Amino acid sequence: MNDAWIAADGRLDRGHPYRWRTWLRPRLPKWLVELGVARKGRDCEAVNAWHRWYNRDDANSACYHCQIVEPGRHWEVPVDTELVPSGAGFVTPGEAALESFPKAAHARVLWVESVEDAFVLVHVDTDPSHPMRVFCRRFGDRWYEMGDSVE
Ligand SMILES: [Zn+2]
Repeated sequence: MNDAWIAADGRLDRGHPYRWRTWLRPRLPKWLVELGVARKGRDCEAVNAWHRWYNRDDANSACYHCQIVEPGRHWEVPVDTELVPSGAGFVTPGEAALESFPKAAHARVLWVESVEDAFVLVHVDTDPSHPMRVFCRRFGDRWYEMGDSVE
């Protein structure tokens, strides 16, 4: 359990005041981001929230939500166990993604977009077509579906 992740799903990091910005940032056109829309918060701790660390350069940890960078490999700190979803998980992110669709939807995996070592977007389509992105995260060696959005 040494993987960082993106709090992109709206279920994890529930209540974090910067969460929606973190989710929104990669989905906005670049020019909007450069205008400062959905920019990172100044400091999670200043608003009584928590950092979500990722590996910046193998020596320093940066936060998905805010601008703080700290020395050390904070992303290796075990994930809070209450964040681990219930259930046994799946061997592949594709299986995890399809599990949330009813049989009648005829859901199938189009492709899997790797975001990080332990975080992927599974692009799924159904019949009739309704393209979705399903966020899947790996805990240990099992994959879990963490949320989805329309393509
Ligand atoms: Zn932070």
